[in-house]
Amino acid sequence: MVNVVNKYTEKLLRGAKKSLLYTAKRPDIVMEHGKGMYLWDTDGKSYLDFIGGWAVNCLGHCPDPIRIALEQQVSQLVNASPSFYNKKMIEFADLLTENSCFDRVFFANSGAEANEGAIKLARKYGTKFLKGAYEIITTVNGFHGRTLATMSATGKKQWESLYAPKVDGFKHVPFNDLNAMANAIGPSTCAIMLEPVQGEGGVYPASIEYIKGIKKICDEREILLIFDEVQTGIGRTGSLFAYEHYNVEPDIMTLGKGIGGGFPLSALLTKEKYNIFEAGDQGGTYCGQPLAMAAGLAVVDEVISKNLSQNAGIMGKYIMEKLKCIQSEYGFTNLRGMGLLIGFDLPVEKGGEVVLECLREGLLINSPKPYTIRLMPPLIVTKNEIDKMFEILCKVLGRLQNR
Ligand SMILES: *Cc1c(COP(=O)(O)O)cnc(C)c1O
Repeated sequence: MVNVVNKYTEKLLRGAKKSLLYTAKRPDIVMEHGKGMYLWDTDGKSYLDFIGGWAVNCLGHCPDPIRIALEQQVSQLVNASPSFYNKKMIEFADLLTENSCFDRVFFANSGAEANEGAIKLARKYGTKFLKGAYEIITTVNGFHGRTLATMSATGKKQWESLYAPKVDGFKHVPFNDLNAMANAIGPSTCAIMLEPVQGEGGVYPASIEYIKGIKKICDEREILLIFDEVQTGIGRTGSLFAYEHYNVEPDIMTLGKGIGGGFPLSALLTKEKYNIFEAGDQGGTYCGQPLAMAAGLAVVDEVISKNLSQNAGIMGKYIMEKLKCIQSEYGFTNLRGMGLLIGFDLPVEKGGEVVLECLREGLLINSPKPYTIRLMPPLIVTKNEIDKMFEILCKVLGRLQNR
């Protein structure tokens, strides 16, 4: 397929290369608009989107609920101040507590910022109740964000020496290894923090026994269990929150990505027992910002009222069945995932190439590791679009096999 690049796009790309601080390798396309499962670039080419803004656009692109909520809010109140309540902030916190096991909500702007809040809350708890314990145990291959503290919490090998010195007080143990976790806990431990399904690490779900075991340890040692549900929360795994699959209630949960459906928004949720911050301990200029509150409220309300978690479960199963059918033909291994967070391994380390070829064919998928493909489409995806995705994927894989 020949891509006709218009003059306008060329000009934009020159600007991008001249003026943007280089931080990421990006393809030479500029996204212009989106609707539902599709994105369009400035050359008018369309892309079927199975990345969904990185597991963010749970309602798809430019959904009516977000548009209507923002239009209403922008003409009523854009910003009051973080020192005042606003209407949507209260309604949204109520909606989240009514639909989860938690009692209290703190809003922020990104997943990393919500996790910073969780780390602070755990350290506050350690100071108040555990004789100053501050250490948080996290898992190898986990991901918690890109601020200095959340990078330190993240168990990513490539980041070990980046931006030294790291924030102190994090210990990484292998994932799904209960003994390693139990052995890592010491007198200075105040919390365990992990993702129920490691997302950026390549889609690795925690086992039921592992999570149940960790919960038991946390209760016995009176340390906090923090679930980072930034990627797994808001319907992604087939239930509103992934903790529901494990029948375990964490003490703290963080949400991001899907909670704003594309609007920058995150949240920290906890139980009444841990409502222990004092005034001024935690905050931020845009925490509870009315536009974000209106957008998030509309998104979560839509996910709940349309039961999109259930759709995620059904469509996730459908993708899995189809993957199983073609597994041997293409040499896939380790099919895994939960709901619409799905990963599988290629027989060769060609993830990057597959992603690029699919992009050329008008399909967006992700490769978090050179041998892994990850799918995380909007929760509104239908069988039709899944069939279409497989058509393109198989075409690309067939071509690469024959090379
Ligand atoms: C994406 C992600 C984060 C970071 O969220 P940002 O909004 O990029 O700061 C944290 N934890 C998990 C599990 C994530 O997937």
